[in-house]
Amino acid sequence: MVQSQLINDLQNVLGRHAVVVEPDALRTYDADASWIVAHAPQVVVLPQTSEQTATVVRMALQAGMPIVARGAGTGIAGGAIPLHGGMLVSTARMERILAVETDNRRAIVQPGLVNAELNAYLAGMGFQFAPDPSSQKASTIGGNLGNNAGGPHCLKYGVTTNHVLAVEIVLADGSLIWTGDGIADAAGYDLTGLVVGSEGTFGIVTQVMVRLTPLPEANRVVLALFPSVVAASTAVSKVIAAGSLPTSLEVMDHNAIRAVNGAYGLGLPEDQGTTLLIVEVDGVADGIEDQLQEILDLCRAAGAFELRPARTSEEQARVWTARKAVAAAIGRLAPAYYLVDAVVPRTRLPMMMEYVEQLRREHDLEVCNVFHAGDGNLHPLVLYDPRDADQSRRAHMIAAGVLDLSIEQGGVISGEHGIGVEKCEYLPRMFSPSELQLHATLAAVFNPQEVFNPAKIFPPDQPPGELAAARRERIATNGASAVDLRDRLQTIVGAEHLLVGGATAAYGIRGVTPDYAVFPADIEQLAAVMAACHRASATVVPWGGGTRQHLGNPLEAQTPLVVVGTGRLRRVTTYEPDDLTIGIEAGMPLAELQAHLAEYGQMLPLTIADGDQSTIGGLVATAATGSRRTGYGTLRDWLLGITLVEVDGTISRLGAQVVKNVTGYDLVRLCFGSYGTLGIIAGVSLKIFPQPRQSATLQLEYADRSAALAFVKELAHTQLQPTAVDYLHGVTLPAGSTPLYHTIAIRSEGHPAAVKRHLHDIAQRAASNTTVPVAILRDDAETEHWAALSRAMTPRAIAADEMVLRVAVLPAQLDAALTRIEQTGTAEGLSITIVAQALQGVLLVRARGNTDGLRRLHATLNDTFSHIHLLDADDALRRTLATWGTTPATLAIMARIRTALDPDRRMNPGRFLV
Ligand SMILES: Cc1cc2nc3c(=O)[nH]c(=O)nc-3n(C[C@H](O)[C@H](O)[C@H](O)COP(=O)(O)OP(=O)(O)OC[C@H]3O[C@@H](n4cnc5c(N)ncnc54)[C@H](O)[C@@H]3O)c2cc1C
Repeated sequence: MVQSQLINDLQNVLGRHAVVVEPDALRTYDADASWIVAHAPQVVVLPQTSEQTATVVRMALQAGMPIVARGAGTGIAGGAIPLHGGMLVSTARMERILAVETDNRRAIVQPGLVNAELNAYLAGMGFQFAPDPSSQKASTIGGNLGNNAGGPHCLKYGVTTNHVLAVEIVLADGSLIWTGDGIADAAGYDLTGLVVGSEGTFGIVTQVMVRLTPLPEANRVVLALFPSVVAASTAVSKVIAAGSLPTSLEVMDHNAIRAVNGAYGLGLPEDQGTTLLIVEVDGVADGIEDQLQEILDLCRAAGAFELRPARTSEEQARVWTARKAVAAAIGRLAPAYYLVDAVVPRTRLPMMMEYVEQLRREHDLEVCNVFHAGDGNLHPLVLYDPRDADQSRRAHMIAAGVLDLSIEQGGVISGEHGIGVEKCEYLPRMFSPSELQLHATLAAVFNPQEVFNPAKIFPPDQPPGELAAARRERIATNGASAVDLRDRLQTIVGAEHLLVGGATAAYGIRGVTPDYAVFPADIEQLAAVMAACHRASATVVPWGGGTRQHLGNPLEAQTPLVVVGTGRLRRVTTYEPDDLTIGIEAGMPLAELQAHLAEYGQMLPLTIADGDQSTIGGLVATAATGSRRTGYGTLRDWLLGITLVEVDGTISRLGAQVVKNVTGYDLVRLCFGSYGTLGIIAGVSLKIFPQPRQSATLQLEYADRSAALAFVKELAHTQLQPTAVDYLHGVTLPAGSTPLYHTIAIRSEGHPAAVKRHLHDIAQRAASNTTVPVAILRDDAETEHWAALSRAMTPRAIAADEMVLRVAVLPAQLDAALTRIEQTGTAEGLSITIVAQALQGVLLVRARGNTDGLRRLHATLNDTFSHIHLLDADDALRRTLATWGTTPATLAIMARIRTALDPDRRMNPGRFLV
């Protein structure tokens, strides 16, 4: 029984009607859609604002109560069940859209807002929040975020984490903070990425800043009918292998068809085995029919016996409504279902479906398959009667079989539903003991007393507090040991791969020369090197190609100082061209990776000036981005897995080589942009892309900046889908020619008809306004153009009178930022070059002139904007300037993460913001 004083206090804050204590009413909150277990909370509160939420959380903390967040309760892993009772915070009354900024392509909403309601609102403005779980008519944005939800359209657009820019959250000390301001390329650990998918165990999310994606101009939906679920899965694998990127590829087997056929008037055959593949493509109208035809040809070749287009938008809507209603309609077929959520590399889908069929026969239960096949995310729904103990047991046996085989095939045990209560026992099958400890260490940072959603994610016999304590003990050093580090390193890598004393000069870090530079041959050697450094309490600087060692603050030099180079780790570990994924060792340079992928007609859409030297590990650690982010996103979006060698030499595999994963916390995103402070990135798994069939770049030169920016704004509100939109100022292309001013470079890639349409529309819109006739660059000229732009902003050696900055602002502030830079540049007599990723608001600024002028430019920008990153400058100048812009409000949390992972600050100390 909850103390009456607490109830009174809660009612004083929220009002009587927003505090539920009657036992019957509490029982309506005892479960979610999983039917796993039921446990009622002691009290339910329904706040309306962030402040109210923070206040009631503080009250619960004071009363020593567990706190569980609940959105709509549609979760299928038991995430919102208050297993230990306590206070349940329902977000049902936090359902407002607080702001929509189409110019910045973002909106701020309360977490209780229903996904479909947000999308209905945005549709009127030509935008969408892309994640579209089948439960979207009921599930909330907070719940989507809690479980990193996916949906049919996530094949093309990515899952929730790709569409959340920042969150406001009540933490375990009762404080309310924003994880960021949503501006691109902010420095610091990716707290937003970490909170997404944390299943309510890090705090209560009270506001969410979401990314808006323009609605496509056209779409087509076709229903392809196959004789079996294996045949349909084979077609999915073939479509992905052919390099097509449909919007959706969703499978429904005969049981799924039976469940919804009649109710939605689909008129599909219901014969045993008949399986439906829903194919959707979208984009600009031009080329879309061709793209669809190619996919349908592959379906026919894989055995599709009938193809039915959904011709009108009403027909399309009916198909999707039916698809999304399958789980709800299963009641027609059985009293209950056990919904399995697993992900495998897409090429393994056919064999997984064969195995599901085998399990079905062995355990004599009906299975309904309905799943996001394009992502390799399978969802067998095992039909059973929970009142029959033997049926329940057999249903669990099928689920266990599917999960075990997924793990064996390099997959994961949850793609979108989370671990919750349902799969916590399975977690040790996915993770090694030390990996579990690493996940628990993050839990201990955010939720040290386990007040938020206790007994979730981790196995009951391995609570996160104990796991985190075990890791702390493991990595405690007790001061430097007397080992001879040099001997140890030499034994591990051999004398020829160890540099000592003066020989290390080439690996100096801004004036500091290391004692040793060591180059392990593989990940095991790297782990042994790190263990040796750990025993000797050595300071470690991870070193890829050495192209980004100038970034950041000076190193806090301590001895012994060891540069650990990844340059010999450059093997491909797992390349699955047909899955569009690759696993490589982190020391592979970008150019080498691109050459390898090119042999298969694939690529990573990243152009870096020094790609022949820059290693993938280094690019991930320094959060490298490129101009094509407008169409493809950034490395953050393509990262699937990381092999991290922790400070004590423990190897931890984070993520997996599959495109969807919500198994434990998202430590992959945490490592992105961590500047070598959390461990050494030894291996990376990436999503890769087919090379576009055609590509062209338009260059438009305007009379002045405002005309150029007006055009960018106009472009942002069209349904065109350029892959890069850069604003150029003072750039000389090719070297020695007249510098370009007020110039926009717009790239279009994809189907030839789509590229042609972009060229035509953009040229026509621009015609009335440009001073110079539109230039079109193709083939080598185009490649050279983008490479030259990258080179222009990445000086090989910085001059004493030079400075390179990254200025990150909201897209709507681009004009203000450019004005300030140009005005200060003129006043100080500086020569300024700018390449701005215009739709993201990220400007690379290279300034040259007297150092006082450079200092004033830096100061004036720093006074106005938060994210001014000093990328390069002569050491004398650099010592007087801040490197990372305004200190973020979340620095203390970042510091706690750093301390938890590297308590003695031996990884790259001093150089990063944290
Ligand atoms: C028929 C059906 C179809 C489904 N289809 C899909 C699908 O296609 N894709 C998919 O990904 N999922 C799907 N799901 C699962 C489920 O709908 C999603 O996980 C959804 O995102 C949960 O949202 P919710 O509002 O119901 O959250 P809840 O179930 O209430 O909560 C889910 C988790 O998020 C946490 N949480 C909720 N709100 C907050 C908050 N404000 N702060 C912190 N933590 C919070 C909870 O504690 C819990 O751990 C489906 C479920 C059903 C029943």
